Amino acid sequence: MIPSLIRSTTATLLVCSVACGPAGDQVPKQKGSEPTTMDHHSHARPDDARITHLDLDLSVDMEARRISGTALYKVESKSDRIIFDTDGLTIERVFLGDGSDAQYTMGDSSMLGRSLEVRITPETKEVGVVYHTGDRAKALQWLRPGQTTDREFPFLFTQGEAILTRTWIPIQDSPGIRFTYSANVTVPKELMAVMSATNPTEHSADGTYSFRMDNPIPAYLIALAVGDIVFESTGSRTGVYAERSMVKKAAWEFADMEKMLEAAETLYGPYRWGRYDLIVLPPSFPFGGMENPRLTFATPTIIAGDRSLTAVVAHELAHSWSGNLVTNATWNDFWLNEGFTVYFERRICEALYGVPYVDMLGVIGAQDLKATMEKLTRDGQPEDTRLYLDLDGRNPDDGMTDVAYEKGCAMLRTLEALATRPVFDAFLRNYFDTYAFQSMTTEHFITHLQEHLLTPNGLSFDVNAWTEGEGLPANAVMPTSDRFDLVEKQIARWTLRNTGR
Ligand SMILES: [Zn+2]
Repeated sequence: MIPSLIRSTTATLLVCSVACGPAGDQVPKQKGSEPTTMDHHSHARPDDARITHLDLDLSVDMEARRISGTALYKVESKSDRIIFDTDGLTIERVFLGDGSDAQYTMGDSSMLGRSLEVRITPETKEVGVVYHTGDRAKALQWLRPGQTTDREFPFLFTQGEAILTRTWIPIQDSPGIRFTYSANVTVPKELMAVMSATNPTEHSADGTYSFRMDNPIPAYLIALAVGDIVFESTGSRTGVYAERSMVKKAAWEFADMEKMLEAAETLYGPYRWGRYDLIVLPPSFPFGGMENPRLTFATPTIIAGDRSLTAVVAHELAHSWSGNLVTNATWNDFWLNEGFTVYFERRICEALYGVPYVDMLGVIGAQDLKATMEKLTRDGQPEDTRLYLDLDGRNPDDGMTDVAYEKGCAMLRTLEALATRPVFDAFLRNYFDTYAFQSMTTEHFITHLQEHLLTPNGLSFDVNAWTEGEGLPANAVMPTSDRFDLVEKQIARWTLRNTGR
C-alpha cells in the first residue's frame, strides 16, 4: 500500500515507452497445513481449523448500501470448531456441507470485531454463512454519483488492509492464513464489478459477474469495485479500468506498466499472477495505491498528465512479490511487506529511469523517515521506530509508518552494499522462489538471512540492531543525491540573473 499522497508526490520525472512481454500463469504451491503464527489481530485459530477456499455469492445493493449473500468455505479441521472474524455483519444462518444448520456463537464486540465460532467436526469439509453487511462497514466506500468523476452513477470500492475485510465478509482475517477464492457478484445492470481476481473487460447483460483467484491469498487482499467502469488495454498482460471519461487518460498515463512488469521479472523472477491491471478509483480513495492482486487500486491524483507519478505503480507492482507472494505473517511483521517493496520499487524505477532519479526518491524518503522517527520519539513511542513491532492490543494501522517503509528499505540497501548487488539479488530472488505463496515472520526471515546470505558469504551484520533496536543503526547506508544541490544552485543563478543582484 502507499498510505498517503505524500509518498506518491515524491515520484516525479518519469517518461517512457511501452514494450510487450510473454503472458502466462504460474501454478502456485498450495500450502494446506503449514504451522501458523499467533496473530493478535484475528480471532481465528487456524491450527484448529482453517479455510482453504472461499466461494462468494453476493448481491450489491447500491441504493441500500448493502452487500448480502452467502459465503461458502472449504475447510480443513482438526477440531470441533472453526472461528471466523466478523465486524458489523448480520449473520442470518450458518450451515454445513450437507445443508444442515450448524450451531454457532458470536463473541463480544471489540476493536477486532466479533468472533463467529461454528461447531464442526474434524470430518467437516464445508461451512456456509448467509449474511449481510451493516451500515458502517469500514471496508466499504459507497459514493453517490456526484462523488464520482462522471457524476452519473454510484460507485463502490473496498479496502481490506489491515483488518477490514471482516466488515464485508465473515473470514479468517489474518495475513498468515491463505486461501483461494471464487465469486459470483450481482450488481445493477448498468454497472460493472471487478475484483482482485480474473476480471471481465465488458459489461455483462444482466449485471452478474464471475471471478476466480486461483492463487492462495490472505483475506486483506480480497477487493471489489463496482461502478460504470470500462477497460482499456496497455499491453499483452496489462490494462487499466476507470470511469468512462478517465480511461483513455489513464491508459496513456500508465503506458509503462508492461515495461515495469518486465523490469520486475528480470530482477526477481516470474510474475505469478497472470495479468497485472490497475483501476483508477474516484478521488475519495484514501490511499495512493493498494496492491490488490491482479488489480491495483489507485487514486486518480497520480494521473498527472505527464506520466510523472507512476512510481506508485512500480510500488504496487512490486507488492506482487513482496507482500502478495511472500506475506507478513502478522501486522507486527509489516516491514517485511513494505520495506522490501520500497527497495524493490526503487530497483524497478532505477531500471527504467536511472540512478539519479531513484537517489532523489531515496533522499526524500530518508527525510520522511527522520521526521517520523523524531515525532515517534517526541510522542513517547520510541519503540515504534523498531522494524519488528508489538501491536498487541493496538490497531495495526498504528504500525503503518515510514519506519516500515523507509527503515525497512534502508536495511536492505545496507545489506546490498555489504554483500554486493549480484549476491544480494540472487539472495532475494531465491527468497521469493522459496517462500512463494507463504507467510513470513521477522524471526524466520532473520534465520533465512543468516543461513542464505550472511554465513555463506562470511558477512557480519547485526540484524537485531534493525529489527529490535530503536532509531537508525550507525552502519545504515543512506541515499545521497546531488540533484537537489544542483536545483538549489540553479535557483540561485536564476534569481541572480532575474533580479540583477
Ligand atoms: Zn506498499
